[in-house]
Amino acid sequence: MTATIIDGRAMGMEIRQELREDVQRYIQERGQPPGLVIVRVGGDAASGVYSKAILRIAKDIGVQARLEQLPEQTAPDELRFTLVHLNGDDAVHGIIVQMPLPPHLSQQMVIETIAAEKDIDGISTQSAGNLFLGLPSFLPSTPAAVIELLERTATPLAGKHVVVLGRSNVVGKPLSMLLLQKNATVTICHSRTENLSFFTRQADVLVAAVGRPNMVTADMVKPGATVIDVGINALPEGGIVGDVDFASVSEVAGALTPTPGGVGPLTNVLLLKQCIQAARRQLGIYAQKV
Ligand code: NAP
Repeated sequence: MTATIIDGRAMGMEIRQELREDVQRYIQERGQPPGLVIVRVGGDAASGVYSKAILRIAKDIGVQARLEQLPEQTAPDELRFTLVHLNGDDAVHGIIVQMPLPPHLSQQMVIETIAAEKDIDGISTQSAGNLFLGLPSFLPSTPAAVIELLERTATPLAGKHVVVLGRSNVVGKPLSMLLLQKNATVTICHSRTENLSFFTRQADVLVAAVGRPNMVTADMVKPGATVIDVGINALPEGGIVGDVDFASVSEVAGALTPTPGGVGPLTNVLLLKQCIQAARRQLGIYAQKV
């Protein structure tokens, strides 16, 4: 193996310690912790695991978080009412709604209802627009995690060619905008890209966010490149792999994230980081009003 393996778990613990200290400072200033609410409508086992993971990290760093569990049959107006109520609650600084919603509920309604200043997962059109314009914005947590990981490993981005595989609204597109802000030369590839390897082999930094197990193989990677594997793919025979064929790519890449243990452990931590930022921003907004 030649690649340096980027340890997302260790990095996540390091950031958690920083956030613990930040929350302590916040509590000293305000007398109460930042507040987060996760809204879940019905939900399967996987979404339950996700909620619990966020609540556990929140407790660890001192953010006051709770789950607002609504029944599967919740009417659209009831969900809207819940969100409007949370928008008006001064002790709640961040709101996230677990996706996917039951089919009778509209994700668009949720996107339009959560107050922009509490949209810590960056799902609103205002957050997306701010990101596009290069204005301060809440970010979807996975792109935020990738950028954090690249910065903490001091991976050069300015002037470098970064190839992003995937153009989803939650990963590929926002990540590409962030990389552009870091002065990278960004190529976005997707399922219709012809001759994919032609592009991937040029990448100084290659990010895979496609959802296809082990799709990126050693022959697609420039020797010495940094490879970030966002993919999380459950195999039918059990176990989880990324979009990158770890065994072969680790012989060619300069640095590589493993799956699990790469990007994944950072995403929820970054979500909570944005909750603390939201609390501070709301403090600023309040100070301007009085
Ligand atoms: P998505 O919405 O399904 O988007 C996948 C993207 O990959 C699409 O843009 C698609 O192109 C492209 N694609 C599919 N097959 C391709 C191929 N053969 N060649 C090139 N591009 C291809 O998925 P997502 O939500 O962005 O998630 C991507 C992966 O990241 C999944 O494995 C997901 O589980 C994982 N994920 C991980 C985290 C984390 O915390 N680590 C968070 C979110 C997601 P088209 O647009 O042309 O269809």
